Amino acid sequence: MTAALMDGKLFAAKIRTKVADQVGQLKQDHGLTPGLAVVLVGEDPASQVYVRSKGKQTVEVGMASFEHKLSADTSEADLLSLIAKLNADPEIHGILVQLPLPSHLNSDLVINSIDPAKDVDGFHISNVGLLGTGQKAMVPCTPLGCLMMLRDHHGSLSGLEAVVVGRSNIVGKPMAQLLLGESCTVTIAHSRTRDLAEVCRRADILVAAVGRAEMIPGDWVKPGATVIDVGINRIAAGEKTRLVGDVHFESAAAVAGAITPVPGGVGPMTIACLLANTLTACCRAHGLPEPEGLTV
Ligand code: NDP
Repeated sequence: MTAALMDGKLFAAKIRTKVADQVGQLKQDHGLTPGLAVVLVGEDPASQVYVRSKGKQTVEVGMASFEHKLSADTSEADLLSLIAKLNADPEIHGILVQLPLPSHLNSDLVINSIDPAKDVDGFHISNVGLLGTGQKAMVPCTPLGCLMMLRDHHGSLSGLEAVVVGRSNIVGKPMAQLLLGESCTVTIAHSRTRDLAEVCRRADILVAAVGRAEMIPGDWVKPGATVIDVGINRIAAGEKTRLVGDVHFESAAAVAGAITPVPGGVGPMTIACLLANTLTACCRAHGLPEPEGLTV
């Protein structure tokens, strides 16, 4: 391996420390405690794990955590009424509705019922529009985490060729917008892209957000490029399973300049950025300066 390892676990721990310090300061100077409400509908096991982890980390950085667990057959009207209450509650600065929702609920309608100022996932249509027009937005957590790691590694990203593989609303598109905002020359690739290998080989920054185990081999990576692997895929390993990314790590690490591992790369950054967004939302709600180094 020649590439530098971009350690997301370590980076996320640093973010949490920064958030905790600034939360302490907010309490001391202004008597404010940022509050995050997480709404979980149904019993999806993966979602339950995420929600537990979010709640634990929220409390660890000194914020208030409010969990609302609703049964899988909750009606849309009841869910919207809960969100309206959370929107109106001054102790709550961030609201997150865990996705996916059960199929009888309209996710777009539900997400767009959250007050955009409390939309710490950055999925509300207003925040999507603000990000797309280069205005101050709530930025989706996973792409925000990727950008923080890229800035930390490169300093300026201006003029670099960036290729984002994947065009989902939660990762690919906002990632591309953020890179454009950093003055990269951005290409968004997807399942219909012709000659994906050639497109990837142009990238100084290659972001993979596809959801296909190890589909990007080392010979698609430009020598010295920075590779951000967002993918989380579970594959069989003998009798057990293990997690791998969308990039074939060993072959890519032999040519890249820097690379994020899976696990331990982008993954831990997502919750750290959720906490950062909640702190940002609290500061904005009270007209206080934005926390340093935690927003874009
Ligand atoms: P989606 O399934 O919503 O999007 C996948 C994208 O990949 C689509 O745009 C699709 O193209 C594209 N794609 C699929 N197959 C190919 C192919 N053969 N060649 C090129 N592009 C292809 O996934 P998400 O964006 O939600 O997630 C992507 C990955 O990131 C997943 O592994 C997910 O688990 C992981 N993830 C990790 C997070 C974290 O680290 N915290 C958070 C969120 C996601 P098209 O649009 O044409 O269908």
